[in-house]
Amino acid sequence: MTTHEQGGSATRTVSGRRLAALVRDRCADEQLAHDVEVVRQVLPFKVSRHVIDQLVDWKSAPDDPLYRLLFPHRDMLDPKHFRAIERALGDPVALRSAVASVRGTLNPHPGEQLTRNIPHEDGDEVSGVQHKYAQTALVFPRHGQTCHAYCAYCFRWAQFVGHPELRIADEGPRQVIAYLRRHPEVSDVLLTGGDPLVMRSELLEPYIDALLGPGLEHISTLRIGTKALSFHPARLVNDPDAARLLRLLESVTAAGRQLAVMLHVSHPRELEPAVTRQAVAALRAVGAQLWAQAPVVRHVNDDPTVWADAWHAQLMLGIHPYYLFVERDTGAQRYFGLPLQRAYEIYRDAVVRMSGLGRTARGPVMSTTEGKVTVDGVAELPGGRAFALRYLQARVPDVVGRPFYAVWDPAAQWWSELVPFSRHDRGFFPPGARGAGGADRAAAR
Ligand SMILES: *Cc1c(COP(=O)(O)O)cnc(C)c1O
Ligand code: SF4
Repeated sequence: MTTHEQGGSATRTVSGRRLAALVRDRCADEQLAHDVEVVRQVLPFKVSRHVIDQLVDWKSAPDDPLYRLLFPHRDMLDPKHFRAIERALGDPVALRSAVASVRGTLNPHPGEQLTRNIPHEDGDEVSGVQHKYAQTALVFPRHGQTCHAYCAYCFRWAQFVGHPELRIADEGPRQVIAYLRRHPEVSDVLLTGGDPLVMRSELLEPYIDALLGPGLEHISTLRIGTKALSFHPARLVNDPDAARLLRLLESVTAAGRQLAVMLHVSHPRELEPAVTRQAVAALRAVGAQLWAQAPVVRHVNDDPTVWADAWHAQLMLGIHPYYLFVERDTGAQRYFGLPLQRAYEIYRDAVVRMSGLGRTARGPVMSTTEGKVTVDGVAELPGGRAFALRYLQARVPDVVGRPFYAVWDPAAQWWSELVPFSRHDRGFFPPGARGAGGADRAAAR
């Protein structure tokens, strides 16, 4: 094949106009390459060498689930938006304005992430920290705000296309550490991004050293959220910086803290390559606990067999299944989104095939402004059919673990579309949400 990738660095990636050339080379399909060229104008795409050579099954593209996870597809855009971009190709001014107007229709900020959860200390924002649930603080290291490749469903897409005002990133570890020292209720710090393992060990070191240092003995667990094992597993195996990274990670467990690596695994095939298995073994050898989570999305993993296979593969590698998420209302949601009812059926039909040790995954979970809400199932109540819901985590801890109900809606895809079932359920929804549905409506009839 021709090489279109940017050579030189340890992670050679393909993005921008090279994507269409790659698809043309691998698939010999001119229409598919054209679709790629149109869609990539609006949404960000980037693939790594590992993805190209070891994950995508090119013979099955474009229907291959890993192709769907990583490559532009014409159905990601509304047909009229697709045509508008297509018409503007070749005219830079028209293209810029068409792209801006299409992006404006795609919600870049689900869950009011930027404004609602940033802690304020003496009136100043502590940039790069999100502290929503008492025990767990998220830290966004500045240099970790990108990934080795991009999942096409990523809700952080806005920051990858370079809107600086939509970026969440810190100004180095000092401010973050000062904040955590004042918050002894925090037991878990989650380094997240992007993907913090895109950072060179030298840049990650100051964070980890500081977290192990004085005044932060209350931090019992350091979590690192990453998709490096799927996109660039060599980062932990034969990358020139791998040994230093593993030594750094080992310093966490050597200090008597827990190190939890939160893997993002969308499809069981991601766990098959030998180098990925070596990366898993390397992490286990430094004492890390491994957990896996992903959203359930159409075209990639909307099948209980895929989830049961993924959980089984995880158990065989010593990875605990953690969350099955619902895709958020952003970006290419028209393409990846599923009804909550379907997400629930996939979860249930997968979990029922597992032994107890494989039932550690919870889901389907919506990460909302109010908290993490899971759909426990469908209940037949005197007032009608309802979704049984429960908060796993909440901004207001009092609502956690108490069952509540929403009017059953087979088409609803997200929390914001749900209606409280009765007056009693209203307290679990954001203030000013829609009125109560089933039971009260039935009573009024
Ligand atoms: C999911 C999440 C956490 C971590 O929650 P756990 O249930 O402890 O895994 C922390 N903060 C935010 C904002 C989250 O969405
Ligand atoms: S690994 Fe996570 S942050 Fe990176 S593109 Fe995928 S979903 Fe987004």
